[in-house]
Amino acid sequence: MTDLLELSLSVAVHDTAAVAVEAARALIDEVVSGGAVVELNGFGLYGEAAHTQVWLRGYMSDTPAHARALQALRHRLLAYPQADLYGEVMIRHLSQQAWTKAWRQHYHALRVGQRLVIAPAWEQPVVGPEDVVVWIEPGMAFGTGMHPSTRLTLQLLERTLQPGQEMLDVGTGSGILSIAALKLGGRHVWATDIDPDAVAAAETNARRNEVAAGLTTMLGSLPAQRPYPLVCANILADVIVDLLLHQQLAEYVAADGVLVLSGIIDGRRYVVDLALAACGMEIVETVSEGDWLALAVRHLHRDVP
Ligand code: SAH
Repeated sequence: MTDLLELSLSVAVHDTAAVAVEAARALIDEVVSGGAVVELNGFGLYGEAAHTQVWLRGYMSDTPAHARALQALRHRLLAYPQADLYGEVMIRHLSQQAWTKAWRQHYHALRVGQRLVIAPAWEQPVVGPEDVVVWIEPGMAFGTGMHPSTRLTLQLLERTLQPGQEMLDVGTGSGILSIAALKLGGRHVWATDIDPDAVAAAETNARRNEVAAGLTTMLGSLPAQRPYPLVCANILADVIVDLLLHQQLAEYVAADGVLVLSGIIDGRRYVVDLALAACGMEIVETVSEGDWLALAVRHLHRDVP
């Protein structure tokens, strides 16, 4: 994982705040690759009386071009007519070290879905006989289970995976989804990532969980071999759209197979919907947590006369 730039601003909630939040979100969505993340700090939906503050954050990899884009965005936000509603608009550099230290402090075993327990490598959680523990030390790779998009994908995987099935995990990060699939009874998983740190972390985590024999990793986006009965991709909406429209992701899903997509912020759902429709696929299940969505998708089956 590369260093990140974070842009954040807060909006104090009162009558006109919803407009200010939407305006800021639209500006951030335009510039930031993954769109704006809206954090409500446990207050529920904004617009309700109980809220005092809403946070908007956007993340980009730390490159000079992105730094310039975020500075320009900061100026646009401050020039907005209701900018007096905004707290300070901050741009922060998050180093790999800061990132790693932060999750070490905050990361503890957590339960996901019915049987899965995601635990840091150094913790021995107390579990029941049916539970499946996935130990993760993600190093620099994304995928600790702390992020809603990972939890949502795990929930759908647990419900979808059939024992003995094979799976393709696109953008494996720490390998968390692949390892969970293998421990839930999957036969073999092919896992790809464009980040070499992620591929290394996935392999280390697979060994730690004693499922390395079932995992084949690959540096890159999509493998040569296809199709698979189950494909998962927890990446951002725009990457998913690119994979669907330009890299034939749908062709990697067997005729009666399932594609699990995650990393989709609510405001970007429509681009994924459009791309799926263009590929002849339909959504069969949607799960959400806060602003994040995950979808289970199938090929549309038209009745043959
Ligand atoms: N699967 C993990 C990690 C998700 S983060 C989880 O569910 O928690 C997304 C990962 O996708 C990152 O590791 C990133 O390097 C990788 N990635 C981004 N674009 C990609 C692409 N086009 N093809 C394959 N991997 C990609």
